[in-house]
Amino acid sequence: MFETLSDRLNKIFDNLRRRGKLSEADVDAVMREVRLALLEADVHYSVVKDFVARVRARSIGAEVSKALNPAQQVIKIVNEEMIGTLGEPARLNLAGPKPWLVMIVGLQGSGKTTAAAKLARLLRSQGERVMLVAADPYRPAAIKQLQTLGERVGVPVFTEDGVNPPELAAHAFDQARKGGYTVVILDTAGRSQLDDQLMDELRSISRKVTPTDTLLVIDSMIGQEALHVAEGFRDTVSLTGLVLTKMDGDSRGGAAISIRSVTGVPIKFLSTGEGVDALESYDPRRLASRILG
Ligand code: GDP
Repeated sequence: MFETLSDRLNKIFDNLRRRGKLSEADVDAVMREVRLALLEADVHYSVVKDFVARVRARSIGAEVSKALNPAQQVIKIVNEEMIGTLGEPARLNLAGPKPWLVMIVGLQGSGKTTAAAKLARLLRSQGERVMLVAADPYRPAAIKQLQTLGERVGVPVFTEDGVNPPELAAHAFDQARKGGYTVVILDTAGRSQLDDQLMDELRSISRKVTPTDTLLVIDSMIGQEALHVAEGFRDTVSLTGLVLTKMDGDSRGGAAISIRSVTGVPIKFLSTGEGVDALESYDPRRLASRILG
């Protein structure tokens, strides 16, 4: 993850460390390289622009610290600003009366169904009584996939024939309440692209059952397209968080760095592999240290 970007930034910082004093022109030269490295990693240009401007302003105005030499100070500022760009650590809105309802939305192939099962496993390991719901009654293969994953993580899967997704969700919720479940995770239908029918369906489910959280699962490998997809969903259903998947792949990292700033939706989880345990709660500090090495 982020290998190319990390290597480039590390080279820039190594060169910087060799310098004793730093003039304004030195800081500018460094920031030019950082800017290029971020753009080549596919970070959105407006995010790069703001980031570089903030680091530059703070580096030039930095008060002289006895503990740190000028190069160390610039590196420290880059680190702090990267953490700021990556957003705050965000958690599920698990509050209010149970069962809590987490609706999972996303495009086909994004890793949505896998993420639903991973989240079920995580919450179960935290002591919750979890029910998964295959809220896509039109695709038997999707139901089967969730059932297989449910078995693997030891969580029951609710499904029902002959009803539409909002009704199915409401029935599942009722059953969960009666059965003493504490969390219901809805795996909704995916489509290969954003379309009105899907959005209408998601809106209807959302109105019918009022989720505690609506998480958009998004493939980090699709680069800046991820920003458009996230904006599309955000503008129709009210998203409370993002799950970025395939963070173990060799994507250039740009989507992960930009998505919080561009969409305003917090990242809540990172998915880092195909295994059912490969889900991390989002930690911007940890991500920044992966990026900056
Ligand atoms: P859905 O169509 O959105 O429900 O996507 P799936 O959950 O079926 O996932 C699509 C493919 O991506 C499957 O082969 C998953 O194993 C794989 N996948 C999901 N998340 C990750 C991840 O974080 N890393 C990797 N490497 N593969 C993933």
